[in-house]
Amino acid sequence: MSDTSKQYAVAIDIGGTNVKAGVLSRDGEVLARQRVLTEERKGGEQLMVKLINLAKSLISEVGKSKQQFAGIGVGTPGLPKDGVIMSCPGKIPGWEGTHACADLTKATGLPAVMDNDVKVIALGEGWIGAAKGEKNFVSLALGTGVGGGVIIDGRIYQGEHAVSARLGHMVVEPHGKLCICGNRGCLEAYCSARSIAAAAIDHVLRGCETIILDLADGDIRNIDAKTVFDAARRGDPIALEILDKTAHHLATAILTIMQAFDPKCMVIGGGVAAAGDLLLEPLRKIVKQYAWTGPGEVVDIRASTLGDDAGIFGGAALVFAELC
Ligand SMILES: [Zn+2]
Repeated sequence: MSDTSKQYAVAIDIGGTNVKAGVLSRDGEVLARQRVLTEERKGGEQLMVKLINLAKSLISEVGKSKQQFAGIGVGTPGLPKDGVIMSCPGKIPGWEGTHACADLTKATGLPAVMDNDVKVIALGEGWIGAAKGEKNFVSLALGTGVGGGVIIDGRIYQGEHAVSARLGHMVVEPHGKLCICGNRGCLEAYCSARSIAAAAIDHVLRGCETIILDLADGDIRNIDAKTVFDAARRGDPIALEILDKTAHHLATAILTIMQAFDPKCMVIGGGVAAAGDLLLEPLRKIVKQYAWTGPGEVVDIRASTLGDDAGIFGGAALVFAELC
């Protein structure tokens, strides 16, 4: 039974550059926001101090009594389970093994809940974003890497070892490009922002005729996924070819996800989602063409609507879903 006297949540989103935090109400209003630099290299202990200070500072900033807070929700990189960081490969030294929820509760007196950042964002999409009101959906975050979140009956599907939804490492091209995980042909090796930029750089180095290098001010180091989207919007054939391949690989993944989960919708977020309909329109067409479905079963492909605040909406959604 939800305790509706507990109207507010503290939400914390640990990103690679910033830790963003906020106080949100049960109806999704953001009452306060704060952000500090993550400074990953300074390690887990210092990060924990930052989280505690952010939580305390936000609670005092909004001037609400502690009894009105349902708790603190945290999205973290890596794999947390039961409030403990089980693994965080190569990101924040010393973050692994941190009892983050217990530490936050001890310092603030509020219950705390934590999950992987991408899964938390998926929950936020269902609370107040592109999948608002949907009970069964899957989100894909196409950023530097590719992450996923599977929501079943309104809750994050965790799997046996809390490592579900590693959707970036679904193989979409057998014997394909080497992925950062060591396997070949993963979705992440084709559809992450990093992979899209790498494909463009490869074309430039091979001397292909393209405006991509011009759009990057003649410096190959400036080429990112956005450069490719800008070039595609201007009709550049190489950029359009890269986007076409991205759409096909993404469609392959989505078709498999559809068969596994029968989701109502797919939410596409992260930096690559900035391509908008340039990517989503062909993606919808390919999925529709190849989907093996009954009437009305083709998944609805939507762009994320949470924007920059996705992580804090997710953190609050986690609090209201798990602690009320
Ligand atoms: Zn992989």
